[in-house]
Amino acid sequence: MTTTEIPASSSTDLDGFRRQVRAFLASNLGQKDHGRPTNAGRPDHGDLDVSIFHDLTFEQEQALVARRCEWQALKFAAGYGALSWPVEFGGAGLSSAHEKIVEDEEGNFEVPDRHEVCGVTTGLVAPTIRAFGTDEQKERFIRPFLDGSQLCSQLFSEPGAGSDLAGVATKAVRDGEEWVLSGQKIWSSGAQYAQWGLALCRTDSSVPKHAGQTMFLVPLDHPGVEVRPIRQMSGGASFNEVFLTEARIPDSLRIGPIGEGWKVALTTLSFERSSSGSHSTVGGNWELVLQLARQMGKTDDPVIRQQLAHLYSFEQVRHYQALRNKAVPAGGVPGPGGSLGKLTWTIFLAEVSAVVSNLLGASMTADTGEWGTFAWNKHLLGAPGYRIAGGSDEIQRNIIGERVLGLPGEPRVDRNVPFSQVPK
Ligand SMILES: Cc1cc2nc3c(=O)[nH]c(=O)nc-3n(C[C@H](O)[C@H](O)[C@H](O)COP(=O)(O)OP(=O)(O)OC[C@H]3O[C@@H](n4cnc5c(N)ncnc54)[C@H](O)[C@@H]3O)c2cc1C
Repeated sequence: MTTTEIPASSSTDLDGFRRQVRAFLASNLGQKDHGRPTNAGRPDHGDLDVSIFHDLTFEQEQALVARRCEWQALKFAAGYGALSWPVEFGGAGLSSAHEKIVEDEEGNFEVPDRHEVCGVTTGLVAPTIRAFGTDEQKERFIRPFLDGSQLCSQLFSEPGAGSDLAGVATKAVRDGEEWVLSGQKIWSSGAQYAQWGLALCRTDSSVPKHAGQTMFLVPLDHPGVEVRPIRQMSGGASFNEVFLTEARIPDSLRIGPIGEGWKVALTTLSFERSSSGSHSTVGGNWELVLQLARQMGKTDDPVIRQQLAHLYSFEQVRHYQALRNKAVPAGGVPGPGGSLGKLTWTIFLAEVSAVVSNLLGASMTADTGEWGTFAWNKHLLGAPGYRIAGGSDEIQRNIIGERVLGLPGEPRVDRNVPFSQVPK
């Protein structure tokens, strides 16, 4: 494998930059065979993969994560790994238009598969540390998180705190220069492959729920930390329960001020919601649904034609929404509008499921051996996951209603009540 450097002229010469990216990719990866049915290509032979989540053994998934990290390391070394980050963090100080070029060009090459925990580390945790970390924390964590050498999982949700994330109950109690963490996190994507967890904890129960929280980086191989994978309905076990039992960590791993964890969490979530809308490569897309309609001989069916037209229009809307999300200036924190991108994406995934179910009927539920049919089952079973992850569709609608459109807020009976007195 070889690396290359980005010339200074790239900031203005986008065509030259595209050629440079193409040459870098060509010297490090195989060209994608567009005859093969990948999510972006036109299917006519080979296996169809429209899965949304991985269905792998621990060892297979671990190897996949390792390949993705190696690729990230190579990109980072060549300057493409953190394009819009400033040079001081190993970035190239370029724009989101440059990022889009890399993303487009990668679509033509055999890029190692994505994994949730890699995206969480580079796209959610690293920018959160940039926004709230001390100089020492930025120095210690940002590069390793951007260059793929260390991974960090998001330890926000708990069995009793998902949509109502501000209700987290995992306690962090100060003991001199250390904090003692106890509680349970859940749905922590990729925690079994990560070295770190970004954990939202309760540090003060005597104040209302949003006020008494603090964010920490927790080393996941630490005594008192236990990570247990959860089996998913789509196969695989990428998510985990993480049990913290009097895990002691130094104060130097606190991210942001004591009592301001909610502000830190909202920032991480805004990165998550705005990036979710751009996950265009997992699951089925309009082109693949059209291919299926042709295969099933249903392109003359007026109802199917109407559904295909609707799906196509929605895919275009989603695409433009994703571009709008990408237009957040480098280093900026996306606002509540990121929820629009997340919502349009998950609605699109659900609509693909609906049209494909109409096309396939019972062959969606049992493998008849006919090519490209039962494979859609993986899309159907995976799509609901993203309607929940990162805040459910209902919660995105609440955010859009209240914080984008300025509509009246939901009744919040526990707003000014100390967390210790909120009925649980
Ligand atoms: C694929 C996947 C990956 C995930 N990865 C992570 C991760 O890496 N780290 C992490 O911390 N968490 C992760 N999560 C957890 C995710 O953030 C939560 O599942 C989500 O916030 C919903 O919380 P809950 O499951 O507790 O559901 P609940 O909050 O119990 O919600 C149940 C239902 O009630 C609805 N509801 C709740 N409150 C309201 C309201 N105010 N108005 C209208 N409807 C409402 C919800 O929309 C939902 O339909 C992941 C989840 C999934 C599915």
